Amino acid sequence: MKQSNALVEKIFAAADAMNDEMVTRRRDLHKYAEPGWTEFRTAAMVAGELTKLGYAVEAGAAVVKKEAMMGVPSDERLAKEMERAVSEGADPQWVEKMAGGLTGVVGTMKCAGDGPVVALRFDMDALDLMETTDAGHEPLEKGFASVHDWGMHACGHDGHTTIGLAVAKILAELKEELKGTVKMIFQPAEEGVRGAYAMVEAGVVDDADYLLGAHIGMKLPRTGAIAARIYGMLATTKFDANFTGVPAHAGMAPEQGKNALLAAACAALNLHAISRHSGGTSRINVGKLIAGSGRNVIGDKALLQLETRGISTEVNEYVASEAQRIIKAAADMYGVTVDISRAGGAAGAENSPALADALTEHARELGIFSEIVEEPVDFGGSEDCSYFMQRVQNNGGQAAYLNIGAKLAAGHHDAHFTFDEAVLGLSVKVIATSAAGLLNGEIKA
Ligand SMILES: [Zn+2]
Ligand SMILES: [Zn+2]
Repeated sequence: MKQSNALVEKIFAAADAMNDEMVTRRRDLHKYAEPGWTEFRTAAMVAGELTKLGYAVEAGAAVVKKEAMMGVPSDERLAKEMERAVSEGADPQWVEKMAGGLTGVVGTMKCAGDGPVVALRFDMDALDLMETTDAGHEPLEKGFASVHDWGMHACGHDGHTTIGLAVAKILAELKEELKGTVKMIFQPAEEGVRGAYAMVEAGVVDDADYLLGAHIGMKLPRTGAIAARIYGMLATTKFDANFTGVPAHAGMAPEQGKNALLAAACAALNLHAISRHSGGTSRINVGKLIAGSGRNVIGDKALLQLETRGISTEVNEYVASEAQRIIKAAADMYGVTVDISRAGGAAGAENSPALADALTEHARELGIFSEIVEEPVDFGGSEDCSYFMQRVQNNGGQAAYLNIGAKLAAGHHDAHFTFDEAVLGLSVKVIATSAAGLLNGEIKA
């Protein structure tokens, strides 16, 4: 059954009416960019807005499992960021609930009749990056460049948060015409793939029949394009390995030293020699190695930062477990100790085929996109929305991640990044109508 046109028209009208509001909100979020686990101002605003719209709102420990958080800043830094957020206008009551960096928010709304649980996931974090001060950069010229020289929205998550709140508002307004339950999920710390796992482990999508996620501009730097057939999200694990040896005078007593620098160097070379896996594509990269203290000292400390990836969770796990074995063996060989911690991770994922087909068809029927990508798109990178997707799919539900095209000033994660704000309205229209169609059983997958 085709989706009721009357409902689609109402959603379009509501999205059009919100255009200025969305631009204002996106620019505000861009200006107060907050990297992973420090999204106190953003998350407090989201929690406040969802409450106003009538959602049952949970934030903090109820929706983020502390033990499953990865790559969390120091307690000292978090305390400082909480204060900073309040000084920038965040509601202290919400911020307090998020102490420790538990900056996830979930809003739940029961609609008029019985129907499925449709979860929509949006990420909120910025990057640890300083925004460019080059002339011609739109956020600078229009006065909304980041006021934090340690944070910049260079991936478009300011747009994602804005889109999520607009969708939340439209669905709340149409509640009486919808069935089932809407779950609006606002996730911290996507960058470095650190945040999703903790929300999934808190059980936020355990009851979901459908899960939708989206990214703007990714792979499609053209406003008006959309792709729903996505595969090849790589599973990944990020490790920090801290080697500790014993320092000694390199001339007078080298035999008394235990060389952490050499252990780390040995590990780095051998990590890149891990055998490939017949199960498919894999990657490994030692991206950073800091070691030693001075020319004439046996290096007693080393930090190695690496990541593994695989086409499936299984392939990645093979590379990740080999990596840990090699790091431990290198430490052993040089008689030093090593502490390995997980700094981030994502599952392998692909869109549920039937849902991807239904959403491709749905996007075409809306008539607002100038380019519907039919061919399956190889995502090629990692995105921790995959954890939500995997959990929902493992429970028998369906999940899809949309790539929504947007003209970009520069690539993602570039200090010159910004996107065409016309993507906000397009995204709200396709996501809100998709959610409504799934809730009402009009989009069948
Ligand atoms: Zn990013
Ligand atoms: Zn992103």
